Amino acid sequence: MREALASVHFWTYALIVVSLCPLAAVLGASWGWTAGTTTFVVLAGPICLAALTTNVWVARLIACLACIGCFLEPTIALRSVDNLWPAFPASASCVLLALSMVISAVTDRLRCRVHALQSQNTEIVRELYQSTHHQNPLGTNPPATDPTAVTEPVLETSDETLNYPMLLLSIQEIGRRISTNLELESLYPTIINCAKTTLECGSCQIHLWAPGENNLVNPLALRPRDPRPYRPQTTSGMAGWVVANRQLITRQTIERDANLESILTQDPHAPDAIAPLSVGGELLGLLVVDQVREDSNTFVRLLYILANISALAIKNAQLFTRIELMAHRDGLTGLLNHNTFHQELERLIDRSTPDSTLSVIMGDVDHFKKINDDYGHPAGDHVLRETARLWKAVLPDEAVIARYGGEEFICLLPNYDLSSSMELAQVLQQTLQDFPFSFEGSAISVTASFGVTQRTTDDTSDDVLIRRADEAMYRSKTRGRNQVTCLEDNHGRPPARSRPQTTSSHDDSPTSTEQV
Ligand code: GH3
Ligand code: MG
Ligand code: MG
Repeated sequence: MREALASVHFWTYALIVVSLCPLAAVLGASWGWTAGTTTFVVLAGPICLAALTTNVWVARLIACLACIGCFLEPTIALRSVDNLWPAFPASASCVLLALSMVISAVTDRLRCRVHALQSQNTEIVRELYQSTHHQNPLGTNPPATDPTAVTEPVLETSDETLNYPMLLLSIQEIGRRISTNLELESLYPTIINCAKTTLECGSCQIHLWAPGENNLVNPLALRPRDPRPYRPQTTSGMAGWVVANRQLITRQTIERDANLESILTQDPHAPDAIAPLSVGGELLGLLVVDQVREDSNTFVRLLYILANISALAIKNAQLFTRIELMAHRDGLTGLLNHNTFHQELERLIDRSTPDSTLSVIMGDVDHFKKINDDYGHPAGDHVLRETARLWKAVLPDEAVIARYGGEEFICLLPNYDLSSSMELAQVLQQTLQDFPFSFEGSAISVTASFGVTQRTTDDTSDDVLIRRADEAMYRSKTRGRNQVTCLEDNHGRPPARSRPQTTSSHDDSPTSTEQV
């Protein structure tokens, strides 16, 4: 191949030199220049070009041809030689030869340097590959000392089959698409789509590992057009092997290894490959890939990289969701916390129109300190959790429920007027009173006092509304607890749009309902 190229170069340059020689001779004769000078001027360019682009020997041969041209110039132009003949052609030839040799030498050195750098690069890539390649063959692995450690996939053939540029481009694409996604709901489909495009597979599923239950759960609901999904077993088959070994495995590897034959007997519908989704030894789930176009080493390595990046992204998104939850929710009851409640209230007020109604129910567990004292703080916590659960169960979905303080709960009821909110508060009061609270075998009697109010056009800020609900609740407390009190507006006037439907009662006995 190289010889053919050199001969093409030689003949091309030779043709150029031979055709330029007569031209140089004619020009030299017409301008009256000393013999050899025009040939030198005309041929210097092609000689330099030949020295730059061809090998040393071709460049020298072309330079020699040019030298001959310098001497033949008077003969070609049929002119008589002057007294400087042959000094000028000789010096022109020497300069042409020297030019060609110097340029060839410099180019050759540069070529050698580039070649050395290329070899060095290849060697680095080979060493990198080999440093991650030294694994025991699948199935013959000695039992791992750390069962949680995730090992790399085994590539079975030589590294020549790895498509490095393809790997690099795919890694870049995977990183760009996956690592920027912090929402779990959109992250799973992103991983699946990314897997389908980069791995060129027809099907990809994520199964999340529930460590407490030793179970695998698909986080995405199956759509009617989806094919029947592979159901991974946690203790047997291909998925069971990956859960136990925390290592990527392909169907092809199993089929080639007699030690792993039993996997396919247990799992006849095993997919083309399964990779563990693990971060720092913690198994988050499995990436199940099927209908793969080509089970090459590049595919295995890409799947390994994709699974690692996806696992990191899932862990990130899980942490992000947890932090967000902690920032907005109360850790004990799971209800909104005080701050978020106020944000929600502001949001509802901002969105409200003159016609919209908004009511508030505030509730406080009666003598809660005594529950703590009598049954212990864990029992108190249990009562708070159960109370929160009952609030959620009784109140409608649109209610914004929060833990306002220690044993104080609050709820916003958009589009509920005072009378319907009163009814809801009464149901809550009755439900708490009737609910059989018990902790570690001890029955606990729990009641709560409630205050209800509705936002009016007079309310200058959200604080006024909350203060009125608080005041109503306080009246329930002072009147004997376990009751609901309704406060209409700051002047005791009824709210603008609705009158409470419940009849007013001034019964001081527990469980009474008050309107003030
Ligand atoms: P009242 O009927 O007047 O509301 O009396 P109370 O005992 O319910 O109210 P008080 O304000 O005297 O006591 C509230 C207690 O709630 C004091 C505090 O230790 C307890 N508490 C606050 N937060 C928690 C919590 O998260 N868990 C537990 N177990 N107790 C809590
Ligand atoms: Mg209390
Ligand atoms: Mg209180």
